Amino acid sequence: MAVDEIKEFDAELYDAMTGELSRQRKSIELIPSENFASLRVLEASGSVFTNKYSEGYPGKRYYGGNEFVDRAERLAIDRAKALFGVPHANVQPYSGSPANFAIYFSVCKPGDVIMGQNLTDGGHLTHGWKTSESGQIFKSVPYHVSAEGYIDIDEARRLAQENRPKLIWIGASAYPRALPLREFSEIADSVGAYLVADISHIAGLVVAGMHESPAKYAHIIMTTTQKTMRGPRGAIIMVTDKGLEKDPELADKIDKTVFPGMQGGPHDHTTAAMAVAFKEAMSQEFKDYAKQMILNSKALAEALKKHGFRLVTGGTDNHMMLVDLTNYGKGFGVFAQEALDQIGITVNKNTIPKDPSSPFYPSGIRIGSPAVTTRGMKEPEMEEIADIMSACIEEIKDSSLPSGKDERQAYIRDFKKRIGESARLRELGEKVIALCDRFPLYPGLEY
Ligand SMILES: *Cc1c(COP(=O)(O)O)cnc(C)c1O
Repeated sequence: MAVDEIKEFDAELYDAMTGELSRQRKSIELIPSENFASLRVLEASGSVFTNKYSEGYPGKRYYGGNEFVDRAERLAIDRAKALFGVPHANVQPYSGSPANFAIYFSVCKPGDVIMGQNLTDGGHLTHGWKTSESGQIFKSVPYHVSAEGYIDIDEARRLAQENRPKLIWIGASAYPRALPLREFSEIADSVGAYLVADISHIAGLVVAGMHESPAKYAHIIMTTTQKTMRGPRGAIIMVTDKGLEKDPELADKIDKTVFPGMQGGPHDHTTAAMAVAFKEAMSQEFKDYAKQMILNSKALAEALKKHGFRLVTGGTDNHMMLVDLTNYGKGFGVFAQEALDQIGITVNKNTIPKDPSSPFYPSGIRIGSPAVTTRGMKEPEMEEIADIMSACIEEIKDSSLPSGKDERQAYIRDFKKRIGESARLRELGEKVIALCDRFPLYPGLEY
């Protein structure tokens, strides 16, 4: 995994690579969609499979020389099927977003009604948000969460009855609770819709048995492989027995939409890395990891609550939580993200239910435990992280977002300058580095 060739040839890129490795080592990564893939996954990702073209599927390619690619892809497919308990898996989607579009184009026509969790209520862009093509090609009828932050199942049922969607999404990017799978399967069945479980965030919990599997409820399952699955950047689309019962040709339709419908050559290096990641996910070690991810998430939630922070729904069932910062002021998520970044804690600003501000200036932050758990941190470290976060927010609590657009930008510029000069934040930053140094990341990896 040395990068001596790059070091020799391209000093500028080498600089960026060493900078990124050092940033990952010296910061506390709390973005819940991020993780640290194993060196094995990185090796497969950077392997000679990068060089191959293999349009088509194993045994049915449009190019020669696919003996070994076929082997790798079959391994990935068989392992995905075993992990998720499904009869069909397509491992070729380039990422989660194109996978979701492949699902749409397999079962919907432009103009069809689709239903997904609203973006500012925790849903994903591709589930019908207005700035995504998904909200423009299809007629999107979003469902929401209640003021407490739970999915409003009654509203979803009513909207489904009134609008008769062709496809319903269950699964989110910012939802701290267990998904109401049974309820949504009843809703979808009652209107004859396809239920698609997008478990991009929780797939690692599902394969480890820490979150109920959607296999018996949904017709189609999609997951990215780079989040809690701890694999390469990519996605898989699976068809369940229930899906094949509804439409015996569903698996075929999905395969044809992925290729040749939407994509060309599959990313064989990613497929190979998926095969390795799926093998890892079958191990007892991965089950222990998933269990610890939830223990850490709950420990972080409790510690933050002790410091007086409000959490959407009051806590978490999974690997993530949403911190509601409205008591610090509208749009305070922006300041929190900047200040935490300054001390080496990486989070993302996020809307909270009924956010009084906007997605660009939201009033909360989204944090989670996948990456810190991979580093080996446990409950005591979650308390340490909460202490540091609380001290950081305390330092900036008087900041408040002006209402005028131009004033906002000037204010934020000034805010960044101020936090850059704060001695207190510098001190907190040193604590972060000391904590990170106790949990070496990729020990032995030299860039
Ligand atoms: C991350 C995510 C996606 C999209 O994945 P990309 O790989 O970023 O395209 C889709 N759906 C959900 C719920 C996600 O969290």
